[in-house]
Amino acid sequence: MNRRTKVVATIGPASDSPESLRAMMAAGMDVARLGLAHETLEIALERFARIRTISAEMGRRVGILVDLPGPKVRAGSLAGNGLVLNAGSLIRVEPGVGASSAEVITVDYPSLLEDVQLGDHLAFGDGAVVVEAVEHTGAALVVRVLHGGPLKGRPGVHVPADRLRVAAPTPEDLRLLDAFVEVGVDMVALSFVRSAHDVRRVGTEPHPEGPLVVAKIETRAAVDNLEAIVAAAGAIMVARGDLGAEFPIEEVPHLQKHIIGTCIAQGRPVITATQMLESMVTAPSPTRAEASDIANAVFDGSSALMLSAESAVGADPVNAVATMARIAKRADEEFDYERWATTVAVHHRLQVSQQSRDDAVSNAMSMAAWRTATDTGASAILCISRTGFTVRSIAKFRPVAPILAFSTDDRTCHQLSLSWGATPLLLPAGVDGINAIDQVLAAAVDTGMVSSGDLVASSARLGLLPRPGDRHGASGHGAVNPNR
Ligand code: PEP
Repeated sequence: MNRRTKVVATIGPASDSPESLRAMMAAGMDVARLGLAHETLEIALERFARIRTISAEMGRRVGILVDLPGPKVRAGSLAGNGLVLNAGSLIRVEPGVGASSAEVITVDYPSLLEDVQLGDHLAFGDGAVVVEAVEHTGAALVVRVLHGGPLKGRPGVHVPADRLRVAAPTPEDLRLLDAFVEVGVDMVALSFVRSAHDVRRVGTEPHPEGPLVVAKIETRAAVDNLEAIVAAAGAIMVARGDLGAEFPIEEVPHLQKHIIGTCIAQGRPVITATQMLESMVTAPSPTRAEASDIANAVFDGSSALMLSAESAVGADPVNAVATMARIAKRADEEFDYERWATTVAVHHRLQVSQQSRDDAVSNAMSMAAWRTATDTGASAILCISRTGFTVRSIAKFRPVAPILAFSTDDRTCHQLSLSWGATPLLLPAGVDGINAIDQVLAAAVDTGMVSSGDLVASSARLGLLPRPGDRHGASGHGAVNPNR
């Protein structure tokens, strides 16, 4: 069985050479993530162009996800190998942009002293060090180290999101996003989202014309407003780094399941992220716990799994991608497909009276595609979809057969690189719906994933009669919600 769960790899100094990018694509990278919290816009744009060129040269479709920093707070740089903070020690934390030292850690959040209250916890470097504010001196916060550990570079500082005054997306986020919309980015991730309103403030055209908006769930407010955020976003990321700083660590596995379940119910792709292969930042093979974490994230229903430091600054990004791909593929083989689809189908039947006409049509069609392909043992599901909505809807049932996802829209194809089980394939412009079936069958055979004589299931939504004011015509996806 080919791998169904997608691999997202963050590109950084360890992986941005043409050779590394080529090898990572060959090893299984489906989506390249450019994290703007760590890079200048110029470097990120250069990487964007390089990924596009190499992916075209290799004929390997790779989506590009730009991750906006949001109101990300960072500590001032620590020289050399950084420092180790010991549990119980006291240290000063001051607002400012200068370098940090063993006595004073500077933090680039001007209203730190007003916003952080005594008793609040701050976490540095994805939770490597956790401190508690114990005294305000007027010019600094005195903090006690609760969990000690090493800090180096410019570690992120987690300030409890409810204390932060700056909302996401920030004006700087929107400036960065503009530059990437200009060059046709496929997906954009929003950091520190707190409400559906934050997602709508992105203000780009709905996908596929604009980027697919990925809301990162990493604050308490986002967990409280999850249903509405999932409905407003194109996809979701379980951002376990900040989530694990905002909530007690023992909550993270359960939040992961809850967030993924909410995404499945609404047909949104969901990325499980952070520290999946953390030991491989330096080591050549993962810990047993990391291998189990990846498999369990697949069993939870993740559409995609993400590498951060492992591929951006790690010792061997290609090995990290290959390892993640191998573990995910093996988990895909063990996945309980029948039980999963039956649970999703029951859920949709129970919800049917609350569904809009569009949702009811799509759910019924996707369920029928899954049931037909399963009962007949079809080699593939061929799905023709302009916006990708029907593909995402079928994917949530986790059919055993691969989904060959045909679209006339190149951006849809790039956006579907994130979707579980989907192999995106571009159709020539003007070919649509049922008229495309001969071309689609021939293209499916060309992929080598099906052979002449195989049984395949196919699904194409022929559309609804347009209502006044609908953006699309009668063919394709007449009245679909643009967020899908
Ligand atoms: C996270 O917090 O888990 C995350 C993915 O966000 P970032 O890497 O931007 O901190």
